[in-house]
Amino acid sequence: MREDAHQKVKPTHLKRTAYLYIRQSTIRQVFENVESTKRQYALRQHAVALGWRQEQITVIDSDLGQSGASAVDREGFQRLVTEVSLGRAGIVLGLEVSRLARNSMDWHRLLEICALSDTLILDEDGVYDPAHFNDRLLLGLKGTMSEAELHVLRARLQGGILNKARRGELFVRPPIGFAHDALGRLVLDPDQQIQQTIRKLFDTFQRAGSAMATVREFRNTGVLFPRRIHSGAAKGDVIWGKLQHGHVLRVLHNPRYAGVFVYGRSRTRKGIDGECKVQHLPREEWHTFLPESHPAYISWEEYERNLKRLRESAQAIGSDRRKSPPREGPALLQGLILCGKCGRRMTLRYHARQAGLCPAYVCQRKGIENAEAICQHIPGVQIDRVVSDMLLELVNPVTLDVALTVQQELQRHLDESDRLRKQQVERARYEAELAQRRYMLVDPGNRLVADTLEADWNHKLRAFTEAQREYEDRCEQDRQVFNEEQRASILALAQDFPRLWRDPAIEDRDRKRMIRLLIEDVTMIRGEQITLHLRFRGGADKTVTLPNPLRSWESWMTDSEVVGKIDELLNTQTFGEIAATLNKNGFRSGKGQRFTSRYIARIQKQYSLRPRFDRLRKSGMLTVKEMANVLSVNPVTVRTWAAHGLLKAHPYTDKPECLYEPPGSDMPRKAQGTKLLSRRPTAPLLSECPKEVQCEA
Ligand SMILES: [Zn+2]
Repeated sequence: MREDAHQKVKPTHLKRTAYLYIRQSTIRQVFENVESTKRQYALRQHAVALGWRQEQITVIDSDLGQSGASAVDREGFQRLVTEVSLGRAGIVLGLEVSRLARNSMDWHRLLEICALSDTLILDEDGVYDPAHFNDRLLLGLKGTMSEAELHVLRARLQGGILNKARRGELFVRPPIGFAHDALGRLVLDPDQQIQQTIRKLFDTFQRAGSAMATVREFRNTGVLFPRRIHSGAAKGDVIWGKLQHGHVLRVLHNPRYAGVFVYGRSRTRKGIDGECKVQHLPREEWHTFLPESHPAYISWEEYERNLKRLRESAQAIGSDRRKSPPREGPALLQGLILCGKCGRRMTLRYHARQAGLCPAYVCQRKGIENAEAICQHIPGVQIDRVVSDMLLELVNPVTLDVALTVQQELQRHLDESDRLRKQQVERARYEAELAQRRYMLVDPGNRLVADTLEADWNHKLRAFTEAQREYEDRCEQDRQVFNEEQRASILALAQDFPRLWRDPAIEDRDRKRMIRLLIEDVTMIRGEQITLHLRFRGGADKTVTLPNPLRSWESWMTDSEVVGKIDELLNTQTFGEIAATLNKNGFRSGKGQRFTSRYIARIQKQYSLRPRFDRLRKSGMLTVKEMANVLSVNPVTVRTWAAHGLLKAHPYTDKPECLYEPPGSDMPRKAQGTKLLSRRPTAPLLSECPKEVQCEA
């Protein structure tokens, strides 16, 4: 320690606490690098030598096992900064600057605070006063060097790793189903059970179409899935357990099952909060991508197909539910509908009705998120019918014929690419011939050269055969122009399509799959009427408008024509008679039922039709009491006379209760001894009460 150390330490410093900061980057270093830890604790003696008392020295060692690259997780370092900024620290002790901070920003901040609060810094080389320019310059330099040291270390390690990865030689722990052979090459696991289980997983996914369904099938059939233990006493052992969703996803996402060596599929970035974020890169940005570097369970095409399928399924559970896969319910447009008002995906709701499940398309996401009323609700039965009719119209022989012709025309224009492929074959042939000539020219006695040239010739020949085969395959694919027979069968299928579409044995899910072959999505807006914008797969679009469907109570309402008829009949008939008349003429209620007297009464009340009683009274009819007064007889006599046709009575209920026409000049009188029957007037009355007369109670 230099002489001037004691000059820098002032009594003001000695009054305050000395903080000894101790850190090792990793737990492993804590155990193995004991010497360094001891040296760090030994710094305490320096502080004592400078004049601090033992009890004045506080040791901060809560950051043992923490990296110095950032201050965020280092609780101890943060405490140190706090103590310094509060002016409680007289000196900060650390073995090297790198112990304090390997990050320039943290380091310079500490220096700044030390300078402001007049705190000294001590390392193995001496005492520094950050308020002095020279000391500060030196400390700053040390901090920068320390950060650079970290960078160089990392760059060297990383560079080595990347170089190895580029050659495909980096050891990356193989996933289950693979093993290294005696020569260190990656091969399929020699354990047949493991191999077959992996194959079964791929087969099941292909058949069932989702990771969830794969797990279900494994569970139902009781098939277990292998896992390899990578650490601990049982390292290398395989244990068998139930297949989990995560296993399936990991296997499907891992390109190694397709025989591809990959490295650098993700990138780690430190966020503003100091937390590391892993970012998955698209396929083009992967650091290393070496196809066919080892044996595979599936082809690369199948791998990509699987991922595409997974993505499609994932869209169903994302916040937007974009393009959910077809499900069991009858709603044809499930997963294809967008709200025309707010642009979100619409969801589906089913109502159980007598005729079966009735779909309704609902935009409720925003409503749920903001606790508002839902955006729009559109009954689906009518919409499904329209879309279904449209589909039948589209898939007809005429439209298909046009489509087939266009497709054939396009395929005939493939000559250009054919020419290019042919050139590749020609080149391979030329190289093979060249290799052959070289081999022929060499002296057969010169075995070493001859062997090499022969191997080269063989290799070139193989490449040529390969190129030729590929060329032929591609030609075959390109030339797949439909012949007349195929064309006829496709057109016949189109003719058959309506029957197939309506066949009740066809599952809803299959019907929806067919819809998806044609329709990309449907945007719906409900206003004065319902507007559907359909986007088709080929890029065409179509707009359809439909009237708003009747509300259920509207669809149950009695026809206005029938109500008019009832109004008319009320002039001459009672409720019971009206019901009978309507039923006889084939009229039915809004719900399709026969009329009853009670039903007519209800309609009369609901539509405020004028009651029959009022109508009769208005035309001057008298009640039984009034009639009795006019005739000066008992009400019973009035009824008896009416029953025998001496008075004109008009029933206004089904009981019947009647009103009576005023008798006029020729009114009946009491005539004792004369039989009522013989007194009946000669002209018949318009309306008569039935014979059975009830007396009023
Ligand atoms: Zn909406």
